[in-house]
Amino acid sequence: MNVIAISKPYIGDEEKNAVLEVLSSGQLTQGPRTAQFEEQFAAMCGVKHAVAVASGTAALHLALLAHDIGPGDEVITTPFTFIATVSAILLTGAQPVFVDIDEETFNINPELVEAAITERTKAIIPVHLYGHLCDMPRLQAIAEAYKLQIIEDACQAFLATYQGRPAGSFGTGAFSFYATKNLMTGEGGMITTNDDEIAHRCRLLRAHGMSKRYHHERLGFNYRMGEMQAALGLVQLSRIAGFTEKRRENAAFYNAHIESVRTPVTQPDYGHVWHQYTVRINGTRSRDACMAQLNDAGIGIGVYYPIPAHQQPFMRGKAAAARLPVAEKMASEVLSLPVHPQLSRQELAHIVTEVNKL
Ligand SMILES: *Cc1c(COP(=O)(O)O)cnc(C)c1O
Repeated sequence: MNVIAISKPYIGDEEKNAVLEVLSSGQLTQGPRTAQFEEQFAAMCGVKHAVAVASGTAALHLALLAHDIGPGDEVITTPFTFIATVSAILLTGAQPVFVDIDEETFNINPELVEAAITERTKAIIPVHLYGHLCDMPRLQAIAEAYKLQIIEDACQAFLATYQGRPAGSFGTGAFSFYATKNLMTGEGGMITTNDDEIAHRCRLLRAHGMSKRYHHERLGFNYRMGEMQAALGLVQLSRIAGFTEKRRENAAFYNAHIESVRTPVTQPDYGHVWHQYTVRINGTRSRDACMAQLNDAGIGIGVYYPIPAHQQPFMRGKAAAARLPVAEKMASEVLSLPVHPQLSRQELAHIVTEVNKL
């Protein structure tokens, strides 16, 4: 039996030809396609600058460094995220401070943020988990009142909106183009900002802190994006509206037909981009048993994420943690179903039938 994949990158002839063109051109890095990808990406996010980098993790790391975050500083974030959000903070020498999440959206609970602010707090990293934006108006109000930076972890949320305003335009944005993301380049990432100085620093830091050839102004990295990735990204940008529409149709189909488990919500005024479609297995049912049952029916499923960041083995003593009961509960209940744009009607119907048997 063919297993329905939890995610599936779309790679058409245009993608293949675009990469071959780069190979034929001989210019494999820092060329015209990267510049063009940045320009189009910035326009789609409604921001002045986009800086292409090697990964989403690199984007988060550079965004923090560009805001001068380092040893002695604290950064408030969610424990219910992919570990890279937290690793990026630790890599700068700063300390992550975890705030619990909201049960409906799986995102950081803005009501709990203020209590976590100290003299050392420099920034908040809201993570737009699964493609639903965090409560940005409230987080922005808090950030303004306490003079904090906002760095959005928008790795799962390209083109997600609040009142039509896109992810990555509320603060400094960090995006990932890892192979499973809504827009993919295999590996890759992007930083978005309206701030000329932040963009300039990110450009310096991604290429060895180099201002002119072999003149190194700052300690930097090699976090550049290659031209093959940028070429892939440009083709994917031309498809992303269609991809997003298909994800929304798939989610709407699930919302209308799944009855056996708790389905995810989209809050009013928010445009969800459904990086993941995540249900909750609670009550007396065992999630492991449900996963096994769906696997046996040929359905690929995922758990994002089974262990909250503060409970990861390497994290002991590395974070200031308040009580985080909601994140811990969600980590034990969540189950994501395939929602990617290449699912057929029959596959969607099969998934609904099998989920309703749980
Ligand atoms: C994918 C992802 C990252 C890391 O991106 P990479 O490109 O894999 O480095 C960070 N945060 C979140 C929420 C992600 O989903």
